[in-house]
Amino acid sequence: MARRTEIRRDFRFEAAHRLPMVPAGHKCGRMHGHSFLVTVVVGGEVDPVLGWIVDFAEIDEAIRPLRERLDHHTLNDIPGLENPTSELLAAWIMDHLALSRGRVTAVEVHETCCATCVVYA
Ligand SMILES: [Zn+2]
Repeated sequence: MARRTEIRRDFRFEAAHRLPMVPAGHKCGRMHGHSFLVTVVVGGEVDPVLGWIVDFAEIDEAIRPLRERLDHHTLNDIPGLENPTSELLAAWIMDHLALSRGRVTAVEVHETCCATCVVYA
């Protein structure tokens, strides 16, 4: 019986941003920071020999250069993130992650402990 299987890898980074498209006076229009938590969801076939979709270490290697671009940076300065909402940040992360096995099926951006965005492939 075929089962749907996904693995999830979390990473964190700290960054500043402001949202340039919000109405005048909106608090998110002011520069501020978040401790972002990102969950990368990878789905695919479980290799019958290895018993996994992809090595967590490979996901870590794919995440590393993205994290270096994001951590302790102003998100607005990064090409493609001029309007760095959680929605557009999650899509940007998805667009920049490449794996040799499995596929990124979702990216979750936790902007605060109680505000999360999920983008699905
Ligand atoms: Zn914010």
